[in-house]
Amino acid sequence: MKVNGFVKTNQQGSKTNGQINGTEVRNIVDTDIIGDNHIATSIDTPMREDAFVLSDEQKIATIEVKFREIMETLGLDLRDDSLNGTPHRVAKMFVQEIFSGLNPGNSPKISVFENKFQYGEMLVEKNINLNSTCEHHFLPIVGKAHVAYVSSGEVIGLSKINRIVDFFSRRPQVQERLTVQIASELRRILKTEDIAVVIDAKHMCVSSRGIEDESSSTITAEYSGVFKRQDRKDEFLKYIALGR
Ligand SMILES: [Zn+2]
Repeated sequence: MKVNGFVKTNQQGSKTNGQINGTEVRNIVDTDIIGDNHIATSIDTPMREDAFVLSDEQKIATIEVKFREIMETLGLDLRDDSLNGTPHRVAKMFVQEIFSGLNPGNSPKISVFENKFQYGEMLVEKNINLNSTCEHHFLPIVGKAHVAYVSSGEVIGLSKINRIVDFFSRRPQVQERLTVQIASELRRILKTEDIAVVIDAKHMCVSSRGIEDESSSTITAEYSGVFKRQDRKDEFLKYIALGR
């Protein structure tokens, strides 16, 4: 079942390779290789069947308790005034802000309008701010999205493109999946295949840990319809002139 770029599964998502004392043991080798190489396993965000059984308030309360445990396990003294409110702040931030795009109920309301100007060339919205979170390390992905479409007779407000980028960014993500989800939502709303999406982003899990490369960025692209043609692709890339 697919809703808004989601696929619902019954599984936890990780492979199992047996049981020890009645407890399922994850195939740690496989999943670690996938995570450290930032490989997405699916275009749709893997969601549990019971993803929305708990209310947002119940989720915040549950995450608060568990995050407090994480901090205490690290040895932090939560009686300190500076740390005491952190579990609640983090829980609220997860549910209401940085992961609010997991809930289809938060998808932006988009109205389409008739293309009255009969504008037939590509429309490019570039340098859209993008803040997401790497699903393998739960660290920020920060960058820019560049989007283009050719109207099939309908247009949307420019700020709606930003809102679509923002909605799909507010999930634990893999950059490739984020790119494809934005493109597929634009195809659905604008009823056209003529969509291009490029994302240029820095991953904190690459810059501040692991390989610790602060200068590299990751570029992903999705082209469909007329943007598969080299001349249209070149025109779009000239407009967005990456790095300038
Ligand atoms: Zn990562």
